[in-house]
Amino acid sequence: MSSLEQMYQQVIMDHAKQAHGKGLVDLNLIQVGESHQVNTTCGDEIRLRVGLEDDRVESVTWEGQGCSISQASVSVLHELVEGTTLSEAEATMEAFRDLMQAKGEALDDDREDLLGDATAFVGVGKYPARIKCAMLGWMAFKDAMIQARKDEA
Ligand code: ZN
Repeated sequence: MSSLEQMYQQVIMDHAKQAHGKGLVDLNLIQVGESHQVNTTCGDEIRLRVGLEDDRVESVTWEGQGCSISQASVSVLHELVEGTTLSEAEATMEAFRDLMQAKGEALDDDREDLLGDATAFVGVGKYPARIKCAMLGWMAFKDAMIQARKDEA
Protein backbone atom coordinates (compact mmCIF):
# COMPACT_ATOMS: atom_id res chain seq x y z
CA MET A 1 0.00 0.00 0.00
CA SER A 2 1.39 3.43 -0.92
CA SER A 3 1.70 6.19 1.69
CA LEU A 4 -1.06 8.09 -0.11
CA GLU A 5 -3.38 5.10 0.18
CA GLN A 6 -2.47 4.80 3.86
CA MET A 7 -3.28 8.46 4.41
CA TYR A 8 -6.64 8.01 2.64
CA GLN A 9 -7.41 4.97 4.77
CA GLN A 10 -6.63 7.00 7.89
CA VAL A 11 -9.02 9.79 6.82
CA ILE A 12 -11.82 7.25 6.37
CA MET A 13 -11.12 5.54 9.71
CA ASP A 14 -11.00 8.90 11.52
CA HIS A 15 -14.39 9.94 10.11
CA ALA A 16 -15.91 6.53 10.88
CA LYS A 17 -14.75 6.75 14.50
CA GLN A 18 -15.51 10.42 15.04
CA ALA A 19 -18.53 11.08 12.90
CA HIS A 20 -19.43 14.68 12.10
CA GLY A 21 -23.05 15.82 11.96
CA LYS A 22 -24.32 12.66 13.62
CA GLY A 23 -27.55 13.07 15.57
CA LEU A 24 -30.64 14.52 13.92
CA VAL A 25 -31.26 18.12 14.91
CA ASP A 26 -34.75 19.68 15.17
CA LEU A 27 -34.91 22.56 12.74
CA ASN A 28 -36.98 25.68 13.04
CA LEU A 29 -36.78 26.37 9.31
CA ILE A 30 -39.42 26.42 6.60
CA GLN A 31 -37.49 24.32 4.10
CA VAL A 32 -36.70 21.02 5.77
CA GLY A 33 -36.34 17.69 4.02
CA GLU A 34 -35.53 14.22 5.20
CA SER A 35 -34.56 10.99 3.51
CA HIS A 36 -34.04 7.43 4.68
CA GLN A 37 -31.78 5.25 2.53
CA VAL A 38 -30.86 1.60 2.95
CA ASN A 39 -28.10 -0.35 1.25
CA THR A 40 -29.38 -3.90 1.59
CA THR A 41 -26.28 -5.53 0.08
CA CYS A 42 -24.13 -4.28 2.98
CA GLY A 43 -26.72 -3.49 5.66
CA ASP A 44 -25.98 0.23 5.80
CA GLU A 45 -28.72 2.61 6.81
CA ILE A 46 -28.80 6.41 6.87
CA ARG A 47 -31.52 8.90 7.77
CA LEU A 48 -30.48 12.40 6.83
CA ARG A 49 -32.16 15.76 7.50
CA VAL A 50 -31.47 18.95 5.58
CA GLY A 51 -32.53 22.50 6.38
CA LEU A 52 -32.31 25.21 3.71
CA GLU A 53 -32.48 28.95 4.12
CA ASP A 54 -31.90 31.74 1.62
CA ASP A 55 -30.34 29.52 -1.05
CA ARG A 56 -27.98 28.04 1.52
CA VAL A 57 -27.61 24.60 3.08
CA GLU A 58 -28.12 25.67 6.68
CA SER A 59 -28.03 22.27 8.36
CA VAL A 60 -27.16 18.67 7.52
CA THR A 61 -27.54 16.07 10.25
CA TRP A 62 -27.97 12.32 10.12
CA GLU A 63 -28.43 9.07 11.99
CA GLY A 64 -27.15 5.79 10.72
CA GLN A 65 -25.36 2.54 11.07
CA GLY A 66 -23.30 0.33 8.83
CA CYS A 67 -19.79 -0.15 7.52
CA SER A 68 -16.93 2.34 7.97
CA ILE A 69 -17.17 3.54 4.38
CA SER A 70 -20.86 4.42 4.55
CA GLN A 71 -20.54 6.19 7.90
CA ALA A 72 -17.31 8.01 7.06
CA SER A 73 -18.73 9.16 3.72
CA VAL A 74 -21.79 10.81 5.26
CA SER A 75 -19.57 12.41 7.92
CA VAL A 76 -17.40 13.93 5.18
CA LEU A 77 -20.54 15.01 3.30
CA HIS A 78 -21.69 16.93 6.38
CA GLU A 79 -18.32 18.69 6.60
CA LEU A 80 -18.35 19.62 2.92
CA VAL A 81 -21.88 20.85 2.30
CA GLU A 82 -23.16 22.36 5.54
CA GLY A 83 -22.99 26.12 5.16
CA THR A 84 -22.51 26.15 1.40
CA THR A 85 -24.86 27.58 -1.21
CA LEU A 86 -27.19 25.23 -3.05
CA SER A 87 -25.12 25.48 -6.23
CA GLU A 88 -21.88 24.71 -4.34
CA ALA A 89 -23.57 21.69 -2.77
CA GLU A 90 -24.75 20.52 -6.21
CA ALA A 91 -21.23 20.87 -7.63
CA THR A 92 -19.77 18.94 -4.68
CA MET A 93 -22.34 16.16 -5.15
CA GLU A 94 -21.49 15.96 -8.85
CA ALA A 95 -17.74 15.84 -8.13
CA PHE A 96 -18.24 13.01 -5.63
CA ARG A 97 -20.29 11.04 -8.14
CA ASP A 98 -17.52 11.59 -10.72
CA LEU A 99 -14.96 10.34 -8.18
CA MET A 100 -16.98 7.16 -7.63
CA GLN A 101 -17.17 6.59 -11.38
CA ALA A 102 -13.44 7.22 -11.93
CA LYS A 103 -12.48 3.60 -11.16
CA GLY A 104 -9.76 4.67 -8.75
CA GLU A 105 -8.25 7.37 -10.97
CA ALA A 106 -7.65 10.86 -9.55
CA LEU A 107 -9.85 13.75 -10.69
CA ASP A 108 -8.61 17.14 -11.88
CA ASP A 109 -7.47 19.69 -9.27
CA ASP A 110 -10.67 21.77 -9.41
CA ARG A 111 -12.87 18.86 -8.46
CA GLU A 112 -10.36 17.57 -5.89
CA ASP A 113 -10.34 20.99 -4.23
CA LEU A 114 -14.11 20.84 -4.04
CA LEU A 115 -13.97 17.37 -2.46
CA GLY A 116 -11.30 17.92 0.19
CA ASP A 117 -11.35 14.93 2.58
CA ALA A 118 -13.80 13.14 0.26
CA THR A 119 -10.89 12.61 -2.14
CA ALA A 120 -9.86 9.85 0.30
CA PHE A 121 -12.67 7.72 -1.15
CA VAL A 122 -11.01 7.54 -4.57
CA GLY A 123 -9.97 3.90 -4.03
CA VAL A 124 -13.59 2.90 -3.40
CA GLY A 125 -14.28 3.54 -7.09
CA LYS A 126 -12.41 0.33 -7.90
CA TYR A 127 -14.96 -1.77 -6.00
CA PRO A 128 -18.51 -1.48 -7.40
CA ALA A 129 -20.01 -3.14 -4.32
CA ARG A 130 -18.46 -0.49 -2.05
CA ILE A 131 -19.55 2.43 -4.25
CA LYS A 132 -23.09 1.85 -2.95
CA CYS A 133 -21.76 2.19 0.61
CA ALA A 134 -19.95 5.44 -0.16
CA MET A 135 -22.89 6.90 -2.16
CA LEU A 136 -25.60 6.11 0.41
CA GLY A 137 -25.32 9.34 2.42
CA TRP A 138 -25.03 11.39 -0.77
CA MET A 139 -28.19 9.80 -2.17
CA ALA A 140 -29.93 10.63 1.10
CA PHE A 141 -28.67 14.23 0.85
CA LYS A 142 -29.84 14.58 -2.75
CA ASP A 143 -33.29 13.21 -1.91
CA ALA A 144 -33.61 15.33 1.26
CA MET A 145 -32.76 18.45 -0.80
CA ILE A 146 -35.56 17.57 -3.23
CA GLN A 147 -37.97 17.09 -0.31
CA ALA A 148 -36.94 20.42 1.22
CA ARG A 149 -37.51 22.25 -2.07
CA LYS A 150 -40.69 20.51 -3.23
CA ASP A 151 -42.91 23.43 -2.27
CA GLU A 152 -40.99 25.77 -4.55
CA ALA A 153 -42.76 26.67 -7.76
ZN1 ZN B 1 -21.38 -0.66 3.48
